[in-house]
Amino acid sequence: MLLPLFLNIAGRRVVLVGGGPVAAAKLQQLIAAGAQVCVVSPDVVDEIADARAQGSEGDVVEIVSREFVPADLDGAWLVVAAAPPDVNRSVAAAADERRMFVNAVDDPANASAYLSGVVRRDDFTLAISTSGEAPGLTALLRQGLDELLPRGDLALWLKEARRQRRIWRAEGVPMEQRRPLLLDALNRLYGRPEADEHVRLKPDATHAGSPQPSALSPDATDASRPQPSALSPDVRGPVSPVVGRVSLVGAGPGDPALLTRKAIARLRAADLVLYDALIDERVLRYARHAQRFFVGKRAGRHALTQEKINALMIRAARRGRLVVRLKGGDPFVLGRGGEEALALAAAGVAHDVVPGITSAIAAPALAGIPVTHRGIASAFLVVSGHDEQVFATATGGVMPNGVTLVVLMGIARSAALAAQLIDRGWKPGTPVAVVVDASLPGQQAWRGRLDELAANRSVFVAGPAALGTIIIGDVVAVADAAFFSAGTTDTVRTSHSTERAYVSRR
Ligand code: SAH
Repeated sequence: MLLPLFLNIAGRRVVLVGGGPVAAAKLQQLIAAGAQVCVVSPDVVDEIADARAQGSEGDVVEIVSREFVPADLDGAWLVVAAAPPDVNRSVAAAADERRMFVNAVDDPANASAYLSGVVRRDDFTLAISTSGEAPGLTALLRQGLDELLPRGDLALWLKEARRQRRIWRAEGVPMEQRRPLLLDALNRLYGRPEADEHVRLKPDATHAGSPQPSALSPDATDASRPQPSALSPDVRGPVSPVVGRVSLVGAGPGDPALLTRKAIARLRAADLVLYDALIDERVLRYARHAQRFFVGKRAGRHALTQEKINALMIRAARRGRLVVRLKGGDPFVLGRGGEEALALAAAGVAHDVVPGITSAIAAPALAGIPVTHRGIASAFLVVSGHDEQVFATATGGVMPNGVTLVVLMGIARSAALAAQLIDRGWKPGTPVAVVVDASLPGQQAWRGRLDELAANRSVFVAGPAALGTIIIGDVVAVADAAFFSAGTTDTVRTSHSTERAYVSRR
């Protein structure tokens, strides 16, 4: 029997004997734990030499380039032997003499301390050990448990457990009463309907054979007790093991302050976030516990096909993950959110939609442009400018100058789209605005006329990842001039070459 133990070796001297790849791996673990490591080996692989070179924080790694001698252990707290067996043997002997624990990598016979595989979730650590006998199995189990344990929820449990512990201490609750109290408290987290619907913990006897994320049980072997649940009331009963879900979340135009509270709650609880190119890093930061995947378009290429994105969401939800599919603006405005919802429904995956502030309204608003205005426009049409034919069809049904046009994905084709409208009878003098990076620190707005847009005069310097919304209609004139960059209307210096540069940098 081994005594499981977590060592605080921060700032303490640890001797690592060996300089090969195995030693290099151990070195990383030791550095991560904050140890002062002394590597003893006649020669070392590059990773170790590099770690030495990078050890900026007060020389964390020291390399002694020679054979091990017992005196190397003097003053050390722990020794890790990652050398050939004969060397490990002499390290073990020297350690024994000094009454030090020795961890011998892949050499259990010469060890008295065994590193464990660990699964970590913030402050929660699960250690796995096969007493050094089967490191491969440890790694496999580690991986399996990592998959199995929820992410966001564990942090939540931990927080609640800490809170309860403070209460018990203050109230002097005896030890033996604490566990059932904790179980109750955790279940209460799921009892509240708006406690963010972590519908995931479900004891399911019929699935005992397959690894499902299990409920917390004070004593899993005691079948006579009422089944502990940690589940929300709506998933009780003989339903399939509903464990994960997908939320299609609108991220708004970019500024995190324009996220909805529900969007933030979903992000905080998420285990996995699949996001597009339009998403601001500050928004992603709310997803503290989540794995994040970029699945959007970059430089015109899809990082992942729609089918792959759908498959990824479905698989993760089936594995019990809380998935957030984060989309710019509103998920259902020109963002293929509808297709994703259908795919989830078809796969029987629980999902919901969290609407977001669409850039179709936010971009004009942030430039002072009301999309409707009494006496000027009582309707607006949001249209994609991605394809000229699609644009022609979508706008063909409205009377020229009859509504406000809000064009998304239209910057690259703005001149052609404007020319098309003039051809079809829109007044060349119709006021037009282009709002780039609305709500983001680099927001810019240009205002001019439809014929200027058609002549490519609308362009101004914009960053490589700039996003722009075009607003066409008399409402543009309502906005205060202060919203627009001074003098852009007559800045002809930009013209075609800049336009092309701008477009190609997107
Ligand atoms: N679902 C999104 C739109 C996706 S299409 C929404 O509701 O906002 C992507 C287009 O949205 C871009 O090509 C651009 O026209 C517009 N867009 C997105 N973010 C923007 C921003 N911050 N400023 C201006 N336009 C933006």
